Amino acid sequence: MTGFVINCECGRIVRAGTEDEIVAAVERHVAEDHPELVGKISREDILAMAEEADD
Ligand SMILES: [Zn+2]
Repeated sequence: MTGFVINCECGRIVRAGTEDEIVAAVERHVAEDHPELVGKISREDILAMAEEADD
């Protein structure tokens, strides 16, 4: 399946199947582990970080 993967600077790997899902997953990870970044990362920033992944 084709999806998206982001390797966060903290070492967490966030994966999702769609753009909407990767944005939601990264926002959730940021809220949990990088609260200082909440509100500073846009959807465009997240998608720019995302790489397409083939599983
Ligand atoms: Zn992180």
